[in-house]
Amino acid sequence: PQLANQIAAGEVVERPASVVKELVENSLDAGADQIDIDIDKGGSKLIRVRDNGSGIAEQELVLALSRHATSKITNLTDLEAITSLGFRGEALASISSVSRLTLTSRTAEQDAAWQANAEGRDMQVTVKPAAHPVGTSIEVLDLFFNTPARRKFLRTDKTEFGHIDELIKRLALSRYDVSWQLNHNGQTVRRLKAATTDEQRHKRVAALCGRAFAEQAAFIENQYGEVKIWGWLVHPAACSASLQCQYSYVNGRMMRDKLLNHAIRQAYGDSLTAEQQPAFVLYLELDPHQVDVNVHPAKHEVRFHQARLVHDFVVSALSDALRQLQS
Ligand code: ADP
Ligand code: MG
Repeated sequence: PQLANQIAAGEVVERPASVVKELVENSLDAGADQIDIDIDKGGSKLIRVRDNGSGIAEQELVLALSRHATSKITNLTDLEAITSLGFRGEALASISSVSRLTLTSRTAEQDAAWQANAEGRDMQVTVKPAAHPVGTSIEVLDLFFNTPARRKFLRTDKTEFGHIDELIKRLALSRYDVSWQLNHNGQTVRRLKAATTDEQRHKRVAALCGRAFAEQAAFIENQYGEVKIWGWLVHPAACSASLQCQYSYVNGRMMRDKLLNHAIRQAYGDSLTAEQQPAFVLYLELDPHQVDVNVHPAKHEVRFHQARLVHDFVVSALSDALRQLQS
């Protein structure tokens, strides 16, 4: 089974940032509103994600590390309206097959925490008592230590950390209600307090997308039936190379969706010069039954059931907004 895990790891775990993504998504699925991430050496030495979520019960620790063990889908109809981020039940098994993984967790019902260790290919999981507040810490040491070919593909610490930082940025823009802290080699790189008011959200956008973006961008909001779009948008006249900020989300998931990007470009039309890029942070929200998120394992693409309708709504909502910004 460990070979199968390592093969699956090839799909799920491309680089340290993919490990961080899986761990943080698990924390979000567990209802955490405080997530601290420690990285050493671009993640090749250490990735630690600590959350204050629901925790994992002692008797479920070993199961959490086994393949296709997910607590998030209990029947087939669930598959059709996935709202949690993880649902394949293979991330932890995959990651632990290519690293030295320690899982420490405590649920509110338990008065003590438990820790499970798993290492490499012949992973023997051992469970012992530990100290930890309610929530979960997952520590991933020496990523790819047993798959040297993959380890060779890692770039410099700086590049790998850059991917992690970009990921946290994207996630922090999708969950304003969560406090985030990101440390690299013992230094705090980002510290974001939970944002609940419009002003606090705007402050977070400024911290993540830059002051210039936050000053130029206008808040927009539009709804058609059950489809809604909101976020921040910069007028073409103010779009400059220094405003590099293009983030879009579908039902809270970060996306690089072709249809959505196409619609955004179309709304900007030919008002941008060749050097200009649209600048936006946009959130599309619709009935989860109207989207398939299970299209690609990296989960960056979705399939809209009513693609035409969604596309045209986005074009018209954003065109309207841009026209209003002009006048
Ligand atoms: P998936 O997220 O697809 O269910 P994973 O391999 O990522 O699969 O995680 C396996 C299981 O371990 C999850 O279904 C969940 O029950 C548990 N789990 C993992 N991380 C956490 C966490 N941070 N907090 C609570 N439970 C967790
Ligand atoms: Mg998961």
